[in-house]
Amino acid sequence: MRIYLARSRAFCAGVDRAIEIVERALSKYGPPVYVRKQIVHNEFVVNQLAAKGAVFVEEVDEAPPRSVVVFSAHGVSPAVRQEADSMGHRVIDATCPLVTKVHVEAKRGYERGDQVVLIAHAGHDETLGTMGEVPGIHLVESTDDVLKLGLDSARGVTFITQTTLANDEVSDIVGHLVARYPLATPPPSEDVCYASQNRQKAVKELAEKCDTILVVGSRSSSNANRLVEVAIRSGCQASLIDDSEGIPWAAISEESSVGVAAGASTPEMLVVGVVSELKRHFGDCPIIDLRVNSEDFEYGVQFTIPSGLRDSSSDTHNVQEAPSGSDETFRSAQPPTRKMRRTKIRNPNRRF
Ligand code: SF4
Repeated sequence: MRIYLARSRAFCAGVDRAIEIVERALSKYGPPVYVRKQIVHNEFVVNQLAAKGAVFVEEVDEAPPRSVVVFSAHGVSPAVRQEADSMGHRVIDATCPLVTKVHVEAKRGYERGDQVVLIAHAGHDETLGTMGEVPGIHLVESTDDVLKLGLDSARGVTFITQTTLANDEVSDIVGHLVARYPLATPPPSEDVCYASQNRQKAVKELAEKCDTILVVGSRSSSNANRLVEVAIRSGCQASLIDDSEGIPWAAISEESSVGVAAGASTPEMLVVGVVSELKRHFGDCPIIDLRVNSEDFEYGVQFTIPSGLRDSSSDTHNVQEAPSGSDETFRSAQPPTRKMRRTKIRNPNRRF
């Protein structure tokens, strides 16, 4: 048995920031802090924050008037902002800046008079937020949808994409879109975010070396689901598992080369748990960390937190030493704090 670790994997800067915003809001205002939708699409993270006093709601009107309300990393539409204002909520916005960038592109295209096309998955929280930014956005989920579009080919077309899509899927759809509407213009820079792209590249690299790939992440995570698809398209077996309890033992043997990847909303400690369980089952085995991307590029990315939370007491509350010790220690540890997460990311192998 050999274990290959995807690199990049687990938390991105936008997820890291969103979780820290909720933690700081709890520290500054005390519970309950209401969070509209899952702050990030990971059950473990949501449960841990709920245990600290975060209350997850579907809509802002489920929180009593004048509550502290956090918007999730996936963003919201202006209508949601207005409703929160009308209820007197103190709003803290944890929308990832890279999602906000897509919202801005939608507004710019609309203001130019373009028809705006969003390549995204219907019903995803991010899609709903972006669709609400400007009236009349055309949603495209597949190349078939491009054929069904009834756009005016004499007018400009701005197209934007959900940040967590598979790059290959987007390229295919964009190819069809541009062929049909030559006036279609791409966003000034890539909408599929750096974190999604890096994790997909890492899974492609894993697929060349592994028989099966375990993608650690929740079913609700678009990012993690795309990694499974990328692995399968690359010719590898792949399973999406929440944590070590989901390891598909029947698909793994002593002779296997197993890849372990994780979506951008998955805590590193769940990856640690999966690797530890594989080792417990198959004994000590080589662990190879595949560095596909420039570490400086991925892990130099940080997004600032909202100014109102920067001076909270949690500035120091969050600074703890990274855990050291047995795999059991990692499994039973609390979710990693910001400093712990950074330390783990920089030296993932030191714990195995
Ligand atoms: S996956 Fe990308 S868009 Fe989503 S939070 Fe992370 S960096 Fe932001």
